[in-house]
Amino acid sequence: MSQFEYERLHHNLKLLDLITFESILDNYLEVATKESKSIIEILDYLVAQEVQSKEARSFDLRMRLAGFPVQKRLDDFDFNFQPSIDRASIKELASLKFVHNAENVVFLGPPGVGKTHLAIALGIEAAKAGFRVNFINASILAERLAKAEMLKRLEEKIRGLSKFQLLIIDEIGYLPFDELGAHCFFQLISRRYEKASIIFTSNKSYGEWGDIFKDHVIAAAILDRILHHCTTINIKGESYRLKDRKRQGLIPQSFPG
Ligand code: ADP
Ligand code: MG
Repeated sequence: MSQFEYERLHHNLKLLDLITFESILDNYLEVATKESKSIIEILDYLVAQEVQSKEARSFDLRMRLAGFPVQKRLDDFDFNFQPSIDRASIKELASLKFVHNAENVVFLGPPGVGKTHLAIALGIEAAKAGFRVNFINASILAERLAKAEMLKRLEEKIRGLSKFQLLIIDEIGYLPFDELGAHCFFQLISRRYEKASIIFTSNKSYGEWGDIFKDHVIAAAILDRILHHCTTINIKGESYRLKDRKRQGLIPQSFPG
């Protein structure tokens, strides 16, 4: 290989954005020559390394876009601590069929039982599988939607969110929605209905959702769409946060979780 061809090869690899291929080429060719690798083996190795690093980079990008407040994995979840959760249901959700089918998931339960943990863990599984995911707090979302509506940009905002195949809306019910927030939220739910998935977490039972949206008619319309294709995981247990404090003796063992 002439110097000209050598330089053109490196130049073209960079031009094609084959960064890893280009950066490991020289070293690998040296090793491959010593080990008498065939041309196919060499090409296969270099291309495979490029694919692997591209996949890792796009996963990192999806994780950044997702905006998870913390990273929580399914493997870190102690199912023994929370026996009301059916492991098989979570395993089924982790297969991500619900994302493929544009279905919803709702985690209900009191504070500290792992709703957000499981929602994030499923979000990470989805990001690993190549889905675009976005995590957002319900009150912040309602505020942003209402602001967009006031600027006549609700449509644009909802279209922006539709690029995410999975939206995780955390903490529905901690703060009530005002009328505008509820109206905008309904628009978002209607637009994603049967098209893209949402995971919700809430400390309020469905019966109490009317109070969150104040307007019971809107609440019913929202719930109707969410629940049509939905898996509900109702967690009835003790707070994991309290568990640690109980162990440290800060709270009496009989304190209700
Ligand atoms: P929630 O959203 O239901 O209020 P979180 O998911 O935020 O609760 O859980 C509170 C904390 O306890 C988090 O740090 C979470 O990772 C941890 N946690 C909750 N349940 C479990 C569990 N069963 N196994 C391991 N960690 C848990
Ligand atoms: Mg939470």
